[in-house]
Amino acid sequence: MDTPLVLLDVDGVLNPLQRSPGYQRYRATPNGVTFRLLLNPRHGPMLTALAEETGAELVWASYWTDAANEWIAPRVGLPELRAIPIPPRDPVYSYGGWKARHVAEWIGERPFVWLEDEPDVPDALATGPTLGPHLIVGVDPEEGLTEAHVAQARGWLEQLRERAR
Ligand SMILES: [Mg+2]
Repeated sequence: MDTPLVLLDVDGVLNPLQRSPGYQRYRATPNGVTFRLLLNPRHGPMLTALAEETGAELVWASYWTDAANEWIAPRVGLPELRAIPIPPRDPVYSYGGWKARHVAEWIGERPFVWLEDEPDVPDALATGPTLGPHLIVGVDPEEGLTEAHVAQARGWLEQLRERAR
């Protein structure tokens, strides 16, 4: 079986709208544009453990693309990750719809779990090309990624592994 992938969004997932305990404020200026960030240093260890324990690979699925390795990864405790190329959005599409198109194209039939806050991603994926087994874990952008989301991803990845045996 192909290595399963864990797709990681940044805004609304690692960088929520609301500040909860454990989050720190940062500024990032990719390409000279300033963004305010709320990041949690516990996220990196949670996600790294998920990937190690399930034999999965973490991959960026964010409009930050490669810039996430510079501005996000070191602040949450993640290593440098591969990034799915997502070109600037065609305004005909929603944020979720545009991203889903490019994720589907890149991922082919590899199994994946996607930690994502855009609510229209499941529908956008359903109308695209045939995909392998996948799970979209919907994250509330106000709150961001929690242990419960990671547990859901872990359960699904463990089942996938069992089925492949
Ligand atoms: Mg997002």
